[in-house]
Amino acid sequence: MSDVDAAEVRPLRILSVSPEVAPYAKIGGLGDMAGSLTKALHRLGVDVRGFCPLYGSIQRGDDWQARKTPVHVHLGYGQEDYGRVWETRYPQTDAPMYFLEFNKYFQRPEIYSGPWGAHGDNGARFAFFAKAAIELCRHLDWQPDVIHAHDWTVGLIPVFLNTTELHTPLGRCASVFTIHNLQHQGIFPREVLDWAGLPPEVFRPDDLESVGFANYLKGGLYNATKLTTVSPHYAEEIKTHAYGCGLDQVVRFRAADLIGVLNGVDYDTWNPATDAHLPANYTAENLSGKAHCKRALQEHLGLEMNPELPIFGVISRLYDQKGLDWLAAIVPRIMAEMSVQIVVLGAGDPTLEGEFRELAGRYPGRVGSFIGYSEQLAHLVEAGSDFFVMPSRFEPCGLNQLYSLKYGTLPIVRATGGLVDTVESYNEATGEGTGFRFDQPNEHALYYTIGWACSTWYDRRHHYEAMQQRAMVQDFSWERSARQYVRIYEWARDARLEGLGLIKKQVAAQHERRVLKTMIQPLAANGGPPGERAAARA
Ligand code: ADP
Repeated sequence: MSDVDAAEVRPLRILSVSPEVAPYAKIGGLGDMAGSLTKALHRLGVDVRGFCPLYGSIQRGDDWQARKTPVHVHLGYGQEDYGRVWETRYPQTDAPMYFLEFNKYFQRPEIYSGPWGAHGDNGARFAFFAKAAIELCRHLDWQPDVIHAHDWTVGLIPVFLNTTELHTPLGRCASVFTIHNLQHQGIFPREVLDWAGLPPEVFRPDDLESVGFANYLKGGLYNATKLTTVSPHYAEEIKTHAYGCGLDQVVRFRAADLIGVLNGVDYDTWNPATDAHLPANYTAENLSGKAHCKRALQEHLGLEMNPELPIFGVISRLYDQKGLDWLAAIVPRIMAEMSVQIVVLGAGDPTLEGEFRELAGRYPGRVGSFIGYSEQLAHLVEAGSDFFVMPSRFEPCGLNQLYSLKYGTLPIVRATGGLVDTVESYNEATGEGTGFRFDQPNEHALYYTIGWACSTWYDRRHHYEAMQQRAMVQDFSWERSARQYVRIYEWARDARLEGLGLIKKQVAAQHERRVLKTMIQPLAANGGPPGERAAARA
């Protein structure tokens, strides 16, 4: 029996390695995705296991168990370190979840940066974590078909698999590397590579070198068997100079191996009908609970208790990417000209945090802000708002617009990345659409779009209500995306084995055809962004 035949009679084995996994450790959408995908794959019968560092902020549960022996992590210069591995099950599943305890690097509570900025030893921390993921497989005596690595922190996994591991049994393991955000690349002095035990050949422009530094994300892009990103539109955007963050040439070079798969929503957590964080639940058929949530939100943030005023909500990391500096700049104009309320929940750039605090002080009862992170309040903002503002400069997928649709809170988005794939813009002539989209990346476009939404609320309420109904029945559940990942894993597994000469080309080509047929052509039929590839294969 060939390796592929053997693999096809047992469930696919996937090790998902991520620096964030909700609900244990999360900064943004990456954590949500890594957690929800594990759950969805498990439900599809995949033998999926997760691996994440044990940060000081993670509380171990009663059911957690430390494995009897430590994992040995071999690095350069003959170094060998030992980490403790904790094991539990991902919530609501039997999928094993492993955590790496190694206090020197991970006892601090923050994932990427502390009060003084990015941790100075991030290069070493995440090289160590990447190597530990590979050593974990040996430690468990469990050979995955694919290691799924998420973003720059684990970009070295495919590099290890193609170099130090290539002639070990683990060298058969394929890698799928998901780009969650091309902006964050993990750039470090080259010495970290020697320290990690990687051979000097990887430090070249056509591998992970980038202007004299080691670039972990670039390492992942070059070396992974297959690449994915989190929406079809973003997969096209990152091939361009405008969105490529200096790596667009590399992305174009690997374009034949890149697919955009839309993130899904975990409707066990984000569903207004069952959401335990809300003071009242509601459905599309009975929205009275939403009015209750609106009152609770107004009360919580000290806003005027008036059901007639539309609330424009924001939940976001407050960074340049999110375009919320445009919102801060136009709040005075909005306050002068429109009868609306604005609510901001976010944290990040201290200047922007200060601006939103100041605006809440300047317009009491009309602008509310909570600077910080609050899962509970995030649910209330989704449920209690009437519109959700997401003016991102770029947005790989975006989750909050998907939550907003489910909560009947119409999204106002800039037409970029996953926002294009998920929000259908309002057509004033027909009343169709699920939200409001604008193109130009500036505050004027945002101002006029908020004005458009405001006039729809006051002057065309029947359109608002019809859109709300349409939004709430959209289905962005994880199951569909998880099925696409299964096909991509099979595609990667076969490509790896074929590359190593372990299976015949035809078998790998069969899977490639299956993946492209089911994923690329439907996009083309929808007028989506299939790009050169579908055209070339037609
Ligand atoms: P990104 O990953 O770029 O931050 P996404 O929209 O993909 O953006 O995901 C953001 C996730 O983080 C959502 O689940 C959102 O609710 C959550 N989030 C962001 N900021 C906060 C905050 N201040 N408090 C609570 N949740 C937040």
